[in-house]
Amino acid sequence: MTKFIFVTGGVVSSLGKGITAASLGVLLKRRGLRVSVIKMDPYLNVDAGTMNPFQHGEVFVTEDGAETDLDLGHYERFLDLSLSSDNNITTGKIYSSVIAKERRGRYLGATVQVIPHITNEIQEHILKVADGNDVLIAEIGGTVGDIEGLPYLEAIRQVAGRVGRGNVLYCHVTLVPFIAAAGELKTKPTQHSVNELRRIGIQPDIIVCRSQFPLEGDIKDKIALFCNVRKEAVVEALDAPSIYRIPLTLHDQGVDMLVLRQLGIPATQEPDLMDWREFDHRCANPETEVEIAMVGKYVSHKDAYLSVVEALRHAAAAGGAKLVLRHVEAEDVERDGVGSLSGVQGILVPGGFGSRGIEGKIAAVGYARTRKIPFFGLCLGMQVAVVEFARNVCGIAAAHSSEIDPGTPNPVIHLLEEQRTISDLGGTMRLGGYTCELVQGSRSHEAYKKSVIRERHRHRYEFNNEYRERLARAGLVTAGVCQGRDLVEIVELEGHPWFVGVQFHPEFTSRPVRPHPLFRDFVAAAMKVTGKGALQD
Ligand code: GLN
Repeated sequence: MTKFIFVTGGVVSSLGKGITAASLGVLLKRRGLRVSVIKMDPYLNVDAGTMNPFQHGEVFVTEDGAETDLDLGHYERFLDLSLSSDNNITTGKIYSSVIAKERRGRYLGATVQVIPHITNEIQEHILKVADGNDVLIAEIGGTVGDIEGLPYLEAIRQVAGRVGRGNVLYCHVTLVPFIAAAGELKTKPTQHSVNELRRIGIQPDIIVCRSQFPLEGDIKDKIALFCNVRKEAVVEALDAPSIYRIPLTLHDQGVDMLVLRQLGIPATQEPDLMDWREFDHRCANPETEVEIAMVGKYVSHKDAYLSVVEALRHAAAAGGAKLVLRHVEAEDVERDGVGSLSGVQGILVPGGFGSRGIEGKIAAVGYARTRKIPFFGLCLGMQVAVVEFARNVCGIAAAHSSEIDPGTPNPVIHLLEEQRTISDLGGTMRLGGYTCELVQGSRSHEAYKKSVIRERHRHRYEFNNEYRERLARAGLVTAGVCQGRDLVEIVELEGHPWFVGVQFHPEFTSRPVRPHPLFRDFVAAAMKVTGKGALQD
Protein backbone atom coordinates (compact mmCIF):
# COMPACT_ATOMS: atom_id res chain seq x y z
CA MET A 1 0.00 0.00 0.00
CA THR A 2 1.45 3.36 -1.04
CA LYS A 3 1.71 6.05 1.63
CA PHE A 4 1.24 9.71 0.79
CA ILE A 5 3.03 12.82 1.97
CA PHE A 6 1.42 16.10 0.93
CA VAL A 7 3.53 19.21 1.21
CA THR A 8 1.83 22.61 1.30
CA GLY A 9 3.20 26.07 1.95
CA GLY A 10 1.92 28.98 3.97
CA VAL A 11 2.54 32.67 4.64
CA VAL A 12 4.79 33.49 1.68
CA SER A 13 6.12 31.78 -1.42
CA SER A 14 9.78 30.82 -1.96
CA LEU A 15 10.04 29.05 1.39
CA GLY A 16 11.74 26.07 -0.17
CA LYS A 17 8.82 23.65 -0.11
CA GLY A 18 10.41 21.83 -3.02
CA ILE A 19 13.67 21.40 -1.13
CA THR A 20 11.80 20.27 1.99
CA ALA A 21 9.82 17.73 -0.02
CA ALA A 22 12.94 16.54 -1.84
CA SER A 23 14.82 16.26 1.47
CA LEU A 24 12.09 14.10 3.01
CA GLY A 25 12.38 11.99 -0.12
CA VAL A 26 16.13 11.57 0.32
CA LEU A 27 15.70 10.35 3.90
CA LEU A 28 13.00 7.86 2.95
CA LYS A 29 14.72 6.61 -0.19
CA ARG A 30 17.93 6.06 1.71
CA ARG A 31 16.04 3.95 4.18
CA GLY A 32 15.39 1.61 1.29
CA LEU A 33 11.88 2.78 0.37
CA ARG A 34 10.67 3.29 -3.18
CA VAL A 35 9.79 6.97 -3.39
CA SER A 36 8.24 8.99 -6.16
CA VAL A 37 7.20 12.62 -6.34
CA ILE A 38 4.67 14.83 -8.01
CA LYS A 39 4.60 18.61 -8.28
CA MET A 40 1.18 20.16 -8.70
CA ASP A 41 1.21 23.68 -10.11
CA PRO A 42 -1.99 25.70 -9.88
CA TYR A 43 -1.37 27.81 -13.00
CA LEU A 44 -3.32 27.52 -16.24
CA ASN A 45 -0.36 26.86 -18.53
CA VAL A 46 -0.50 23.25 -19.65
CA ASP A 47 3.23 23.03 -18.97
CA ALA A 48 6.09 25.37 -18.12
CA GLY A 49 7.43 25.36 -21.71
CA THR A 50 6.23 28.80 -22.66
CA MET A 51 6.97 30.46 -19.34
CA ASN A 52 9.58 33.16 -19.09
CA PRO A 53 12.59 32.20 -16.97
CA PHE A 54 12.57 35.73 -15.58
CA GLN A 55 9.23 35.13 -13.95
CA HIS A 56 9.28 31.49 -13.20
CA GLY A 57 12.88 30.40 -13.20
CA GLU A 58 14.33 27.63 -15.30
CA VAL A 59 12.23 25.23 -17.33
CA PHE A 60 13.35 21.75 -16.35
CA VAL A 61 13.29 19.16 -19.14
CA THR A 62 12.65 15.50 -18.36
CA GLU A 63 13.96 12.49 -20.26
CA ASP A 64 10.59 12.06 -22.00
CA GLY A 65 10.70 15.65 -23.20
CA ALA A 66 8.31 17.33 -20.78
CA GLU A 67 8.98 20.99 -19.99
CA THR A 68 8.36 21.18 -16.28
CA ASP A 69 8.66 23.19 -13.11
CA LEU A 70 12.16 23.64 -11.74
CA ASP A 71 11.25 21.78 -8.56
CA LEU A 72 11.44 18.60 -10.61
CA GLY A 73 15.11 19.37 -10.95
CA HIS A 74 15.49 19.40 -7.17
CA TYR A 75 13.65 16.10 -7.00
CA GLU A 76 15.83 14.48 -9.64
CA ARG A 77 19.03 15.76 -8.04
CA PHE A 78 18.08 14.88 -4.47
CA LEU A 79 16.39 11.58 -5.14
CA ASP A 80 18.57 10.58 -8.08
CA LEU A 81 15.49 9.73 -10.12
CA SER A 82 14.61 10.25 -13.74
CA LEU A 83 11.11 11.74 -13.77
CA SER A 84 8.58 12.14 -16.55
CA SER A 85 5.77 14.44 -17.62
CA ASP A 86 3.46 12.59 -15.21
CA ASN A 87 5.44 13.95 -12.27
CA ASN A 88 4.27 17.49 -12.92
CA ILE A 89 0.64 18.44 -13.29
CA THR A 90 -0.78 21.88 -13.79
CA THR A 91 -4.31 23.22 -13.67
CA GLY A 92 -4.07 23.67 -17.44
CA LYS A 93 -3.25 19.99 -17.92
CA ILE A 94 -6.02 18.84 -15.59
CA TYR A 95 -8.65 21.07 -17.19
CA SER A 96 -7.60 20.06 -20.73
CA SER A 97 -8.04 16.47 -19.81
CA VAL A 98 -11.44 17.01 -18.14
CA ILE A 99 -12.71 19.13 -21.03
CA ALA A 100 -11.52 16.55 -23.57
CA LYS A 101 -13.40 13.86 -21.64
CA GLU A 102 -16.51 16.03 -21.50
CA ARG A 103 -16.37 16.46 -25.28
CA ARG A 104 -16.05 12.71 -25.73
CA GLY A 105 -19.20 12.28 -23.67
CA ARG A 106 -17.54 10.63 -20.70
CA TYR A 107 -19.67 12.53 -18.18
CA LEU A 108 -22.94 12.31 -20.10
CA GLY A 109 -25.82 13.73 -18.15
CA ALA A 110 -23.67 15.29 -15.47
CA THR A 111 -22.95 18.93 -14.82
CA VAL A 112 -19.16 19.01 -14.98
CA GLN A 113 -17.82 20.87 -11.95
CA VAL A 114 -14.64 21.67 -10.08
CA ILE A 115 -15.82 19.34 -7.34
CA PRO A 116 -15.97 16.42 -8.09
CA HIS A 117 -14.68 16.35 -11.67
CA ILE A 118 -11.53 18.44 -11.42
CA THR A 119 -10.73 17.15 -7.93
CA ASN A 120 -11.25 13.55 -9.09
CA GLU A 121 -8.99 14.08 -12.07
CA ILE A 122 -6.28 15.39 -9.72
CA GLN A 123 -6.70 12.42 -7.40
CA GLU A 124 -6.57 9.92 -10.24
CA HIS A 125 -3.37 11.47 -11.40
CA ILE A 126 -1.87 11.32 -7.92
CA LEU A 127 -2.86 7.67 -7.53
CA LYS A 128 -1.45 6.80 -10.96
CA VAL A 129 1.96 8.27 -10.12
CA ALA A 130 1.87 6.62 -6.69
CA ASP A 131 1.34 3.19 -8.16
CA GLY A 132 4.20 0.80 -7.47
CA ASN A 133 5.90 3.03 -4.89
CA ASP A 134 6.10 2.80 -1.11
CA VAL A 135 5.74 6.55 -0.67
CA LEU A 136 4.52 9.33 -2.94
CA ILE A 137 5.51 12.86 -2.03
CA ALA A 138 3.18 15.44 -3.57
CA GLU A 139 3.93 19.12 -3.40
CA ILE A 140 1.34 21.79 -4.12
CA GLY A 141 2.73 24.94 -5.70
CA GLY A 142 1.77 28.37 -4.36
CA THR A 143 0.60 29.25 -0.90
CA VAL A 144 -2.42 28.11 1.13
CA GLY A 145 -5.14 30.70 0.65
CA ASP A 146 -4.53 31.16 -3.08
CA ILE A 147 -7.79 30.78 -4.98
CA GLU A 148 -6.04 28.71 -7.66
CA GLY A 149 -4.79 26.19 -5.15
CA LEU A 150 -8.16 25.29 -3.64
CA PRO A 151 -9.04 22.35 -5.93
CA TYR A 152 -5.69 20.74 -5.09
CA LEU A 153 -6.22 21.16 -1.34
CA GLU A 154 -9.69 19.67 -1.67
CA ALA A 155 -8.25 16.79 -3.71
CA ILE A 156 -5.54 15.98 -1.17
CA ARG A 157 -8.08 16.19 1.62
CA GLN A 158 -10.19 13.61 -0.21
CA VAL A 159 -7.22 11.29 -0.79
CA ALA A 160 -7.15 10.65 2.98
CA GLY A 161 -10.76 9.49 2.73
CA ARG A 162 -9.91 7.12 -0.09
CA VAL A 163 -6.75 5.53 1.22
CA GLY A 164 -7.23 5.99 4.98
CA ARG A 165 -6.02 8.87 7.14
CA GLY A 166 -3.27 6.69 8.61
CA ASN A 167 -1.67 6.36 5.18
CA VAL A 168 -1.45 10.08 4.64
CA LEU A 169 0.78 12.75 6.13
CA TYR A 170 0.27 16.47 5.68
CA CYS A 171 3.38 18.57 5.98
CA HIS A 172 3.00 22.34 6.06
CA VAL A 173 5.98 24.63 5.43
CA THR A 174 5.63 28.11 6.93
CA LEU A 175 7.63 31.16 7.86
CA VAL A 176 8.35 32.26 11.41
CA PRO A 177 9.57 35.81 10.85
CA PHE A 178 11.84 37.75 13.18
CA ILE A 179 10.43 41.18 13.94
CA ALA A 180 13.37 43.40 14.76
CA ALA A 181 11.33 46.10 16.54
CA ALA A 182 9.93 43.52 18.96
CA GLY A 183 13.18 41.56 19.02
CA GLU A 184 11.33 38.27 18.65
CA LEU A 185 10.12 35.52 16.36
CA LYS A 186 6.44 35.66 15.53
CA THR A 187 4.17 32.62 15.26
CA LYS A 188 0.97 34.39 14.24
CA PRO A 189 1.43 34.02 10.44
CA THR A 190 1.92 30.28 10.98
CA GLN A 191 -1.21 30.08 13.12
CA HIS A 192 -3.20 31.87 10.42
CA SER A 193 -2.00 29.71 7.60
CA VAL A 194 -2.65 26.51 9.55
CA ASN A 195 -6.14 27.83 10.36
CA GLU A 196 -6.67 28.34 6.65
CA LEU A 197 -5.75 24.69 6.06
CA ARG A 198 -7.97 23.44 8.87
CA ARG A 199 -10.88 25.51 7.54
CA ILE A 200 -10.92 23.24 4.50
CA GLY A 201 -10.46 20.14 6.55
CA ILE A 202 -6.73 19.50 6.54
CA GLN A 203 -4.99 19.14 9.89
CA PRO A 204 -1.23 19.24 9.30
CA ASP A 205 0.82 16.51 10.96
CA ILE A 206 4.18 18.23 10.64
CA ILE A 207 4.90 21.94 10.52
CA VAL A 208 8.25 22.92 9.06
CA CYS A 209 9.13 26.43 10.19
CA ARG A 210 11.52 28.41 8.04
CA SER A 211 13.30 30.87 10.26
CA GLN A 212 16.42 32.98 10.48
CA PHE A 213 16.89 32.09 14.14
CA PRO A 214 16.43 28.93 16.24
CA LEU A 215 12.91 28.41 17.58
CA GLU A 216 13.88 28.90 21.20
CA GLY A 217 11.90 29.23 24.40
CA ASP A 218 8.20 28.64 24.10
CA ILE A 219 7.97 29.20 20.34
CA LYS A 220 7.61 25.51 19.53
CA ASP A 221 5.09 25.01 22.37
CA LYS A 222 3.06 27.89 21.08
CA ILE A 223 2.98 26.58 17.51
CA ALA A 224 2.19 23.07 18.75
CA LEU A 225 -0.67 24.31 20.91
CA PHE A 226 -2.28 26.72 18.47
CA CYS A 227 -1.79 24.53 15.42
CA ASN A 228 -2.79 21.32 17.18
CA VAL A 229 0.35 19.27 16.51
CA ARG A 230 2.76 17.55 18.85
CA LYS A 231 5.79 19.59 19.85
CA GLU A 232 8.22 17.21 18.14
CA ALA A 233 6.26 17.74 14.92
CA VAL A 234 7.26 21.41 14.92
CA VAL A 235 10.43 21.30 12.87
CA GLU A 236 12.98 24.05 12.65
CA ALA A 237 14.35 24.85 9.18
CA LEU A 238 16.99 27.51 9.59
CA ASP A 239 18.52 29.23 6.59
CA ALA A 240 21.17 26.74 5.50
CA PRO A 241 24.55 27.38 3.86
CA SER A 242 23.64 24.86 1.17
CA ILE A 243 20.38 23.24 0.11
CA TYR A 244 22.09 19.86 0.34
CA ARG A 245 22.41 20.35 4.10
CA ILE A 246 18.62 20.23 4.58
CA PRO A 247 18.14 16.44 4.52
CA LEU A 248 20.81 16.20 7.21
CA THR A 249 19.24 18.84 9.46
CA LEU A 250 15.82 17.20 9.09
CA HIS A 251 17.34 13.85 10.00
CA ASP A 252 19.07 15.35 13.04
CA GLN A 253 15.65 16.51 14.26
CA GLY A 254 14.22 13.04 13.80
CA VAL A 255 11.81 14.05 11.05
CA ASP A 256 12.18 10.82 9.09
CA MET A 257 11.29 8.78 12.20
CA LEU A 258 8.29 11.02 12.75
CA VAL A 259 7.16 10.39 9.19
CA LEU A 260 7.60 6.63 9.46
CA ARG A 261 5.65 6.52 12.72
CA GLN A 262 2.80 8.60 11.36
CA LEU A 263 2.56 6.48 8.23
CA GLY A 264 2.97 3.16 10.03
CA ILE A 265 6.10 2.20 8.10
CA PRO A 266 8.45 -0.01 10.13
CA ALA A 267 11.88 1.56 10.59
CA THR A 268 14.02 -1.37 9.54
CA GLN A 269 17.20 0.56 8.83
CA GLU A 270 18.83 3.92 9.40
CA PRO A 271 19.11 6.02 6.25
CA ASP A 272 22.41 5.48 4.47
CA LEU A 273 23.66 9.05 4.16
CA MET A 274 27.39 8.45 3.99
CA ASP A 275 28.05 9.85 0.50
CA TRP A 276 25.62 12.67 1.16
CA ARG A 277 27.47 13.66 4.32
CA GLU A 278 30.77 13.45 2.48
CA PHE A 279 29.43 15.75 -0.22
CA ASP A 280 28.16 18.17 2.42
CA HIS A 281 31.54 18.09 4.13
CA ARG A 282 33.35 18.84 0.87
CA CYS A 283 30.99 21.77 0.19
CA ALA A 284 31.56 23.18 3.65
CA ASN A 285 35.35 22.72 3.62
CA PRO A 286 36.71 23.71 0.23
CA GLU A 287 40.46 23.61 -0.26
CA THR A 288 40.49 26.19 -3.00
CA GLU A 289 38.14 28.22 -5.13
CA VAL A 290 37.34 28.34 -8.80
CA GLU A 291 35.86 31.33 -10.52
CA ILE A 292 33.59 30.73 -13.48
CA ALA A 293 31.82 33.38 -15.54
CA MET A 294 28.36 32.54 -16.72
CA VAL A 295 27.46 34.73 -19.67
CA GLY A 296 23.71 34.72 -20.19
CA LYS A 297 20.58 36.69 -20.69
CA TYR A 298 18.76 36.02 -17.47
CA VAL A 299 21.70 36.14 -15.08
CA SER A 300 19.96 38.64 -12.78
CA HIS A 301 17.26 36.08 -11.98
CA LYS A 302 18.68 33.66 -9.48
CA ASP A 303 16.68 30.64 -10.63
CA ALA A 304 16.87 31.13 -14.39
CA TYR A 305 19.88 28.83 -14.76
CA LEU A 306 19.29 26.78 -11.62
CA SER A 307 20.39 23.38 -12.94
CA VAL A 308 23.49 24.86 -14.56
CA VAL A 309 24.54 26.47 -11.28
CA GLU A 310 23.84 23.28 -9.33
CA ALA A 311 25.82 21.21 -11.84
CA LEU A 312 28.74 23.63 -11.45
CA ARG A 313 28.48 23.30 -7.66
CA HIS A 314 28.52 19.50 -7.89
CA ALA A 315 31.60 19.66 -10.10
CA ALA A 316 33.38 22.20 -7.91
CA ALA A 317 32.72 20.12 -4.79
CA ALA A 318 34.10 17.05 -6.56
CA GLY A 319 37.30 19.00 -7.18
CA GLY A 320 37.47 20.24 -3.59
CA ALA A 321 36.75 23.81 -4.67
CA LYS A 322 34.30 26.48 -3.73
CA LEU A 323 32.44 27.79 -6.75
CA VAL A 324 32.70 31.52 -7.26
CA LEU A 325 30.21 32.39 -9.94
CA ARG A 326 30.55 35.61 -11.88
CA HIS A 327 27.22 36.48 -13.46
CA VAL A 328 27.87 38.35 -16.66
CA GLU A 329 25.02 39.92 -18.62
CA ALA A 330 25.55 39.16 -22.32
CA GLU A 331 24.21 42.56 -23.28
CA ASP A 332 26.78 44.26 -21.05
CA VAL A 333 29.54 42.42 -22.91
CA GLU A 334 27.93 43.54 -26.16
CA ARG A 335 27.96 47.16 -25.01
CA ASP A 336 31.12 47.38 -22.92
CA GLY A 337 33.35 44.63 -24.30
CA VAL A 338 34.89 41.63 -22.59
CA GLY A 339 36.50 43.49 -19.67
CA SER A 340 34.04 41.96 -17.22
CA LEU A 341 35.51 38.53 -18.02
CA SER A 342 39.01 39.38 -16.97
CA GLY A 343 40.55 37.02 -14.44
CA VAL A 344 37.97 34.25 -14.66
CA GLN A 345 39.18 30.67 -14.84
CA GLY A 346 36.37 29.33 -16.98
CA ILE A 347 33.60 30.70 -19.17
CA LEU A 348 30.22 29.05 -19.56
CA VAL A 349 27.54 30.16 -21.98
CA PRO A 350 24.22 28.52 -21.08
CA GLY A 351 21.12 27.96 -23.19
CA GLY A 352 18.75 30.68 -24.20
CA PHE A 353 16.13 31.82 -26.64
CA GLY A 354 15.84 34.84 -28.91
CA SER A 355 18.49 37.08 -30.39
CA ARG A 356 19.04 39.47 -27.48
CA GLY A 357 22.57 39.30 -26.15
CA ILE A 358 23.80 36.89 -28.83
CA GLU A 359 26.62 39.18 -29.96
CA GLY A 360 27.82 39.49 -26.35
CA LYS A 361 27.89 35.73 -26.02
CA ILE A 362 29.83 35.46 -29.28
CA ALA A 363 32.36 37.96 -27.92
CA ALA A 364 32.69 35.92 -24.71
CA VAL A 365 33.40 32.77 -26.75
CA GLY A 366 36.05 34.64 -28.71
CA TYR A 367 37.67 35.72 -25.45
CA ALA A 368 37.73 32.14 -24.15
CA ARG A 369 39.04 30.80 -27.46
CA THR A 370 41.85 33.28 -27.96
CA ARG A 371 42.92 33.45 -24.29
CA LYS A 372 42.73 29.68 -23.95
CA ILE A 373 40.33 29.88 -21.05
CA PRO A 374 38.28 26.69 -20.56
CA PHE A 375 34.94 27.11 -22.29
CA PHE A 376 31.71 25.20 -21.98
CA GLY A 377 28.77 26.04 -24.25
CA LEU A 378 25.35 24.60 -23.57
CA CYS A 379 22.77 24.51 -26.35
CA LEU A 380 22.65 28.16 -27.48
CA GLY A 381 26.14 28.37 -25.96
CA MET A 382 27.35 25.72 -28.40
CA GLN A 383 25.59 27.45 -31.27
CA VAL A 384 27.24 30.81 -30.58
CA ALA A 385 30.61 29.05 -30.34
CA VAL A 386 30.06 27.72 -33.86
CA VAL A 387 29.14 31.20 -35.13
CA GLU A 388 32.17 32.77 -33.45
CA PHE A 389 34.54 30.23 -34.95
CA ALA A 390 33.01 30.46 -38.42
CA ARG A 391 33.30 34.23 -38.39
CA ASN A 392 36.61 34.81 -36.72
CA VAL A 393 38.63 31.77 -37.73
CA CYS A 394 37.11 30.70 -41.05
CA GLY A 395 36.24 34.20 -42.24
CA ILE A 396 32.66 33.28 -43.03
CA ALA A 397 30.18 36.15 -42.57
CA ALA A 398 28.24 33.72 -40.41
CA ALA A 399 24.84 34.14 -38.86
CA HIS A 400 23.21 32.16 -36.09
CA SER A 401 20.33 31.47 -38.46
CA SER A 402 18.62 33.19 -41.31
CA GLU A 403 15.52 33.53 -39.10
CA ILE A 404 17.36 35.42 -36.37
CA ASP A 405 19.71 37.35 -38.72
CA PRO A 406 17.69 37.73 -41.91
CA GLY A 407 20.31 39.94 -43.57
CA THR A 408 23.23 37.52 -43.39
CA PRO A 409 23.69 34.77 -45.94
CA ASN A 410 25.52 32.04 -43.96
CA PRO A 411 23.33 30.39 -41.36
CA VAL A 412 25.85 28.05 -39.72
CA ILE A 413 23.07 27.24 -37.27
CA HIS A 414 19.70 26.71 -38.91
CA LEU A 415 16.25 25.20 -38.74
CA LEU A 416 15.90 21.78 -40.33
CA GLU A 417 13.43 21.65 -43.18
CA GLU A 418 10.97 19.52 -41.22
CA GLN A 419 11.04 22.00 -38.34
CA ARG A 420 10.14 25.05 -40.35
CA THR A 421 6.42 24.86 -40.70
CA ILE A 422 4.71 23.50 -37.69
CA SER A 423 4.24 25.85 -34.75
CA ASP A 424 3.48 29.55 -34.37
CA LEU A 425 6.80 29.91 -32.64
CA GLY A 426 8.61 29.12 -35.89
CA GLY A 427 9.33 25.44 -35.62
CA THR A 428 8.99 22.49 -33.35
CA MET A 429 11.50 21.72 -30.67
CA ARG A 430 13.79 18.77 -30.29
CA LEU A 431 12.83 17.86 -26.74
CA GLY A 432 13.94 15.25 -24.24
CA GLY A 433 16.45 12.41 -24.36
CA TYR A 434 18.41 11.51 -27.49
CA THR A 435 21.22 9.04 -27.89
CA CYS A 436 24.55 10.40 -29.03
CA GLU A 437 27.65 8.61 -30.31
CA LEU A 438 30.96 10.02 -29.19
CA VAL A 439 34.09 10.27 -31.28
CA GLN A 440 36.93 8.19 -29.83
CA GLY A 441 39.75 10.26 -28.42
CA SER A 442 37.65 13.41 -28.01
CA ARG A 443 37.53 15.29 -24.71
CA SER A 444 33.92 14.27 -24.36
CA HIS A 445 34.79 10.62 -24.83
CA GLU A 446 37.54 11.03 -22.26
CA ALA A 447 35.01 12.58 -19.83
CA TYR A 448 32.16 10.11 -20.22
CA LYS A 449 34.43 7.09 -20.64
CA LYS A 450 31.91 5.51 -22.99
CA SER A 451 30.98 5.72 -26.63
CA VAL A 452 27.22 6.07 -26.44
CA ILE A 453 25.49 8.56 -24.17
CA ARG A 454 22.01 9.89 -23.68
CA GLU A 455 21.29 13.53 -23.00
CA ARG A 456 18.29 15.85 -22.93
CA HIS A 457 17.50 18.46 -25.54
CA ARG A 458 15.38 21.59 -25.80
CA HIS A 459 16.02 23.56 -28.96
CA ARG A 460 14.82 24.30 -32.46
CA TYR A 461 18.05 25.11 -34.28
CA GLU A 462 20.77 22.71 -35.35
CA PHE A 463 24.35 22.88 -36.55
CA ASN A 464 24.24 23.29 -40.34
CA ASN A 465 26.11 20.27 -41.76
CA GLU A 466 27.12 22.22 -44.88
CA TYR A 467 29.78 23.91 -42.77
CA ARG A 468 30.96 20.88 -40.86
CA GLU A 469 34.00 20.00 -42.99
CA ARG A 470 35.20 23.55 -43.33
CA LEU A 471 35.02 24.24 -39.60
CA ALA A 472 36.61 20.92 -38.77
CA ARG A 473 39.54 21.60 -41.08
CA ALA A 474 40.14 24.82 -39.19
CA GLY A 475 40.00 23.04 -35.81
CA LEU A 476 36.39 23.02 -34.59
CA VAL A 477 35.64 19.32 -34.78
CA THR A 478 32.58 17.21 -34.23
CA ALA A 479 32.93 15.07 -31.10
CA GLY A 480 29.42 13.62 -30.95
CA VAL A 481 26.59 12.92 -33.38
CA CYS A 482 22.98 11.95 -32.81
CA GLN A 483 22.46 8.22 -33.21
CA GLY A 484 20.57 7.44 -36.39
CA ARG A 485 20.50 11.07 -37.57
CA ASP A 486 23.29 13.16 -38.95
CA LEU A 487 23.06 15.93 -36.37
CA VAL A 488 26.08 17.41 -34.64
CA GLU A 489 25.64 17.17 -30.88
CA ILE A 490 29.10 18.16 -29.65
CA VAL A 491 31.84 20.40 -31.02
CA GLU A 492 35.34 20.68 -29.60
CA LEU A 493 38.20 22.98 -30.39
CA GLU A 494 41.55 21.39 -31.14
CA GLY A 495 44.65 22.88 -29.53
CA HIS A 496 42.73 24.52 -26.69
CA PRO A 497 42.96 23.42 -23.02
CA TRP A 498 39.22 22.65 -22.80
CA PHE A 499 36.65 23.95 -25.24
CA VAL A 500 33.44 21.95 -25.59
CA GLY A 501 30.03 22.98 -26.91
CA VAL A 502 27.07 20.66 -26.58
CA GLN A 503 23.71 20.92 -28.32
CA PHE A 504 22.03 19.26 -25.34
CA HIS A 505 21.56 20.18 -21.69
CA PRO A 506 23.92 18.10 -19.54
CA GLU A 507 23.02 20.18 -16.48
CA PHE A 508 19.76 18.30 -16.01
CA THR A 509 21.42 15.00 -15.18
CA SER A 510 24.14 16.15 -12.79
CA ARG A 511 23.76 14.88 -9.23
CA PRO A 512 25.45 16.12 -6.04
CA VAL A 513 27.22 12.86 -5.38
CA ARG A 514 27.68 12.10 -9.07
CA PRO A 515 28.66 15.26 -10.95
CA HIS A 516 28.12 15.29 -14.68
CA PRO A 517 31.36 14.22 -16.42
CA LEU A 518 31.52 17.25 -18.71
CA PHE A 519 30.89 19.70 -15.88
CA ARG A 520 33.43 17.85 -13.76
CA ASP A 521 36.11 18.07 -16.46
CA PHE A 522 35.27 21.67 -17.35
CA VAL A 523 35.66 22.78 -13.74
CA ALA A 524 38.79 20.66 -13.33
CA ALA A 525 40.29 22.38 -16.40
CA ALA A 526 39.28 25.77 -15.01
CA MET A 527 40.96 24.98 -11.70
CA LYS A 528 44.25 24.54 -13.54
CA VAL A 529 44.09 28.00 -15.07
CA THR A 530 45.64 30.14 -12.39
CA GLY A 531 46.23 27.58 -9.69
CA LYS A 532 45.00 29.96 -7.02
CA GLY A 533 46.22 27.51 -4.41
CA ALA A 534 44.79 26.84 -0.99
CA LEU A 535 42.44 29.35 0.58
CA GLN A 536 43.93 31.42 3.35
CA ASP A 537 41.87 31.75 6.48
N1 GLN B 1 17.41 29.16 -29.17
C1 GLN B 1 18.20 28.05 -29.54
C2 GLN B 1 17.40 26.99 -30.28
O1 GLN B 1 16.21 27.02 -30.24
C3 GLN B 1 18.86 27.44 -28.32
C4 GLN B 1 17.89 26.86 -27.37
C5 GLN B 1 18.51 26.59 -26.03
O2 GLN B 1 19.59 27.05 -25.73
N2 GLN B 1 17.81 25.85 -25.20
O3 GLN B 1 17.97 26.11 -30.88
